[in-house]
Amino acid sequence: MQEIKHFIDGAYVASASGRTFDKLDPSTGEVFAKVHEAGEAEVDAAVRAARAALKGPWARMSVAERGAILHKVADGILARFEEFLAAECRDTGKPRSLASHIDIPRGAANFKVFADSVKNVAAETFEMDTPDGAGALNYAVRRPRGVIGVISPWNLPLLLMTWKVGPALACGNTVVVKPSEETPSTAALLGEVMNAAGVPKGVYNVVQGLGGNSAGEFLTAHPDVDAFTFTGETGTGETIMRAASRGVRPVSLELGGKNAGIVFADCDLDKAVEGTLRSVFANSGQVCLGTERLYVQRPLFEAFVARLKAGAEALVIGAPDDPKATLGPLVSLTHREKVLSYYQQARDQGATVVTGGGVPDMPSALAGGAWVQPTLWTDLPDDSSVVTEEIFGPCCHIRPFDSEEEAVALANDTRYGLSATLWTENLGRAHRVAGQLEAGIIWVNSWFLRDLRTAFGGSKQSGIGREGGVHSLEFYTELKNICVKL
Ligand code: NAD
Repeated sequence: MQEIKHFIDGAYVASASGRTFDKLDPSTGEVFAKVHEAGEAEVDAAVRAARAALKGPWARMSVAERGAILHKVADGILARFEEFLAAECRDTGKPRSLASHIDIPRGAANFKVFADSVKNVAAETFEMDTPDGAGALNYAVRRPRGVIGVISPWNLPLLLMTWKVGPALACGNTVVVKPSEETPSTAALLGEVMNAAGVPKGVYNVVQGLGGNSAGEFLTAHPDVDAFTFTGETGTGETIMRAASRGVRPVSLELGGKNAGIVFADCDLDKAVEGTLRSVFANSGQVCLGTERLYVQRPLFEAFVARLKAGAEALVIGAPDDPKATLGPLVSLTHREKVLSYYQQARDQGATVVTGGGVPDMPSALAGGAWVQPTLWTDLPDDSSVVTEEIFGPCCHIRPFDSEEEAVALANDTRYGLSATLWTENLGRAHRVAGQLEAGIIWVNSWFLRDLRTAFGGSKQSGIGREGGVHSLEFYTELKNICVKL
């Protein structure tokens, strides 16, 4: 049985309490690892190590030296690509084809991009008049915030964790990471890569464990963490924000969504079908940016639903090592219960089940896994729980609309504001609708096309702040104004 420990001050350590929890393979339901659960003692040791490292060689390095080390971290991930891939797929159940194209390469890119972009950060300068006529010069400098608490989810574990660790380290901070209890492996493996790349001990620390009354809560309660960056559910974000308010500590929150897709009758049909299928079913629907509400202009509605049904039914459900698999299991049996409860609610609320709606028949070796069928519904009322609440599964409700104004109103009728996608060949309409949609990220005729220099984050209850490019560098630094009397 594999044992997964904390990574504190450059070394792997067990919990003093001896407490562990089981990690299940989502495709079989079998336990494959014992994960050490951090108590307050391990969290305190990690925070102390991170605090001490702020005074060590890491702080004395030039931006270029730190950048060179972070490039080595990225290269180290790529050199051990197969190990990272195997660990990520085992934790999540996702197809290897997906993780090898997205999760692991982006995990490496997150270090390279921010190691380079931090070199280009500028700050403001103001020359001012003074009564004696000599004047004064104001200029700003950026400094690391200090110890950053990083709390990350399970859907894209390495990608989303390094999305925060990369820029935090590039800016000279140190980190204590609390990965999701569902996905402890790649954060742990990254410790070896950090050591091999020459990252000084204490700069990157990992505490394993759960959220409430466990490692997550102990980390946010620790007074010596300077800022928190979190990706996860909106409710958890509220809890973390409350904890961070003690000591007035900044938070960056990337939270849940209930993202709309809008398909106009003037779209390129093939591209819209292909993109929509990806946005609904990629990663078994466990993507914060995924489409769970689809609005299709009436003349195209029947044909579009038929094309989506055919696409959903052509997905190949299978375990990560099945080369034909395009749809893996959900991350856990617990999450499957949640998704299946929405499948039931859809039936109870009068949905027409276009396809799916249940559990697929799997071969006996996989029968214990967290499988659900890809599912499409129509005919639910706009206030149905299935249409208003984030499900985070391979499912979507499809509803017709008539006018552009109606589509915008329907898409905006949500407490969330993470992303929205629209499909049209009408340039004026594309810009007009994109400007009116209430979300932090809008895609026109594409989905999940990401440039890491751009602002990433949500409005309304989908988050606070933006990460990506200069926005990450702003969050992970303090701006200090220096006024010099001439
Ligand atoms: P979650 O909120 O349940 O857990 C996220 C992390 O928070 C985990 O590490 C968990 O252990 C920890 N946690 C839970 N309770 C805590 C507490 N009281 N104190 C401190 N830490 C705590 O989210 P999840 O189920 O892992 O991830 C799915 C959610 O993440 C979805 O809502 C999805 O939309 C969202 N998400 C958002 C983005 C984005 O960029 N906006 C990206 C990916 C996922």
